[in-house]
Amino acid sequence: MSSQPLLQSVRLDGKLLTDVESLQRVKTDLGGLLSEVPVAVLRPGSAADVAAMMREAAAAQIPVTIRGTARSVYGQTVALPGGVVIDMTSLNSVHAVGQDRVTADAGATWSAVVKAALAHGLVPPVLTDYLDITVGGTLSWGGLGLTSWRYGLQVDNVLEIEVVTADGTIRRCSPDCEPDLFHAVLGGMGLVGVMTRVTLRLIPAPGRAIRLQIPYGDAAAMNADQLRLAQEERVDTVQGIVAAPEGRWACMMEIVQFYDGERPDPARMCEGLNGAVEQARIIDTDFETFLFRYGGLSALPCLGPVTPHAHPWWSTMASPELAPRLIDRLVSVLDPAKATQFDLIITYPMRADRSRTPLPSLPDLDWFFAVANFWCVDYEDRQEIADVLSENRRLFERAAADHLQGSADPIAAVDYSRIEWMAHFAKAWPAFHAAKRKFDPQGILDKTRKIF
Ligand SMILES: Cc1cc2nc3c(=O)[nH]c(=O)nc-3n(C[C@H](O)[C@H](O)[C@H](O)COP(=O)(O)OP(=O)(O)OC[C@H]3O[C@@H](n4cnc5c(N)ncnc54)[C@H](O)[C@@H]3O)c2cc1C
Repeated sequence: MSSQPLLQSVRLDGKLLTDVESLQRVKTDLGGLLSEVPVAVLRPGSAADVAAMMREAAAAQIPVTIRGTARSVYGQTVALPGGVVIDMTSLNSVHAVGQDRVTADAGATWSAVVKAALAHGLVPPVLTDYLDITVGGTLSWGGLGLTSWRYGLQVDNVLEIEVVTADGTIRRCSPDCEPDLFHAVLGGMGLVGVMTRVTLRLIPAPGRAIRLQIPYGDAAAMNADQLRLAQEERVDTVQGIVAAPEGRWACMMEIVQFYDGERPDPARMCEGLNGAVEQARIIDTDFETFLFRYGGLSALPCLGPVTPHAHPWWSTMASPELAPRLIDRLVSVLDPAKATQFDLIITYPMRADRSRTPLPSLPDLDWFFAVANFWCVDYEDRQEIADVLSENRRLFERAAADHLQGSADPIAAVDYSRIEWMAHFAKAWPAFHAAKRKFDPQGILDKTRKIF
């Protein structure tokens, strides 16, 4: 490894920061479980800056970690010892919005993309619940949203990517141009190249959204109704939420129908369901208000750069039979008396044939559920953090024992072994591995969690 100062002879459009405050600012992520102070942080002003960094890092064998808003929770954006961080949030412009597409920098947030698209009556087909995270950050794992059962993952709705590879080349790739790079960068966990600019598909945006929140007695009944509604294509989204607002766990299904013109009939939306439909809460808003329903979260200390909580979050893909059992297990081990309004378990169905990208690896089932646990723990409570991490591992092993490829969720706080990663990728592994060897042969884009 070289001890020469980095990027001395390069005229940058952005900045290379080495002061203590800047380095400390990027030493950990939202999870707060792993940390490492990098030797430098690049805040690029252009793809050329990223290319210069990659060239020097490759020449000097310095590991590079890519960072968006660092809302991942298990060291995915944390530098390796002696490594540098590229903070992509400085490349955050939304460029042209066309009739069916938008081009944005990879460090732009989904909020910025959505606002630009809505101004043209358009919207990305799939959005995460929370929008103040970067386009590059979600595409690097997959991006699952309420409408994924209809439109696939966010990675299924990408038309073209500008990527900087480890040799410092700025490339453009798409399903027809360098498809091996395209399919390894999408869902590639920041291990194959740095996305600098992305062209995303857009569809016409509806005007309004009607939400029905229906209480359920248990997760099995809720999951069964979620699946039924999605299979019947009766509504547009079917999310299950388990929370403990009054000190005990309770299930609630939120179904949403988008509309223009006449308001959909709530009775028809929940006809024949097993939940307490007579207690359904109805919220009818314009579509933008619906999309930004969690917008206020950005201001909360628990999601800020220095949080009072560790976030050992866990998620997986589970079969329809396994999903309610995982939820039952979670509510049996998590103390509802400790739950705040942000400690949620969420679940929604996904239809496998709507996702066509090789990564992320998804279960080989027609329908399955995403199950995620957003449990926060006081930093001081080291025992509870350890307990939650052990439970995460047990839950992962339970899902993997169901022979579910795709159960090693890249955004979960679980320490997967290399063998478990390979089992997770299954048939996608050879092409992913080949792309890593071709585009980053020295392993410059490395991670605290070893995959290659
Ligand atoms: C409140 C909340 C709600 C969420 N809801 C959802 C949801 O509904 N659906 C969902 O899918 N996810 C959800 N997530 C998870 C989220 O998608 C991931 O944590 C995502 O990684 C966050 O984006 P980020 O910009 O913070 O990425 P970071 O945490 O900064 O980075 C994540 C990974 O992406 C890589 N990366 C970042 N930028 C690039 C780039 N330009 N090129 C290549 N690699 C890059 C990093 O190296 C790292 O491996 C949620 C997270 C939070 C905090």
